[in-house]
Amino acid sequence: MKLEDIKKIGVVGAGTMGNGIAQVCAMAGYQVVMRDVTMELAQKGLNTISKNLDRLVKKEKLTPEGKEEILGRIQLTEKLDDLADVDFAIEAVTENVEIKEEVFKTLDSLCRPEVILASNTSSISITKIATFTNRPDKVIGMHFMNPVPVMKLIEVIEGLQTSRETSELVVALSEKLGKVPVVIKDSPGFVSNRVLMPMINEAIFALYEGVGSPEAIDTIMKLGANHPMGPLALADLIGLDTTLYILQVMYDSFGDPKYRPCPLLVKMVDAGYLGRKAGKGFYDYTK
Ligand code: NAD
Repeated sequence: MKLEDIKKIGVVGAGTMGNGIAQVCAMAGYQVVMRDVTMELAQKGLNTISKNLDRLVKKEKLTPEGKEEILGRIQLTEKLDDLADVDFAIEAVTENVEIKEEVFKTLDSLCRPEVILASNTSSISITKIATFTNRPDKVIGMHFMNPVPVMKLIEVIEGLQTSRETSELVVALSEKLGKVPVVIKDSPGFVSNRVLMPMINEAIFALYEGVGSPEAIDTIMKLGANHPMGPLALADLIGLDTTLYILQVMYDSFGDPKYRPCPLLVKMVDAGYLGRKAGKGFYDYTK
């Protein structure tokens, strides 16, 4: 398969990441079929895309006709069968191994043998996901950053079985999407989360030990390290459940106590204080 052979891209999952991925694919001129488990969820994803495009129209970076063309390239479905004729598939479903296993097994049985199956997972081993298919050389990590339409990076993760051809094609496709791909090997947390999560965890420990308030800790990292956002505000944005999950994966996989999730993080997740999406995390978002 060559880059020119890719005309239609399947996106599985229409949530935070899935709808962003569908948007950048459609903006790059690809036909997209976006699947979620119900039509309502798929439609919700498309509504988010429409709102994002409205912002571009307002800023005169896109014409109203351009917006309609982009939306016209996105087909919605609740049936995975509708991805049978795609030339490339990107999975962005809930971060859960069992769900991903089912999706990859089904995609493997539906899609032509030469079709690459990419996963946007934040923490699950690409090498493991590849074993759910009969094409492990064509399974790869394509880790987009949130928010997808804005963030330039795609962390391209080669599993143990991923072929050089697969990796090269994903690099070419990522560039076609206007992104900057960086290729790395499969390893717990990849690079982005392996470096980011211990910093966030350390900030939570500092709060836990009463070293400083959330505002103090975040301001120090914003002004002192030139981070656009402090680590606690960033954890709230990512979701504290997701943050805990990724730390736990690294802690379990490496067996190294340096990845031990802070007890305060565990307690906040137990309480349902999951960050922005719950209205409360290290900060209050209800007002
Ligand atoms: P989300 O909860 O916003 O969206 C997940 C969507 O997948 C939901 O709409 C859900 O209904 C749908 N889904 C569940 N099972 C499905 C199935 N079998 N078929 C189709 N759709 C299904 O989650 P998200 O934040 O978009 O995360 C998706 C993936 O992206 C995860 O693997 C996550 O680790 C990864 N990721 C997330 C971020 C982030 O900042 N949120 C960043 C990078 C990568």
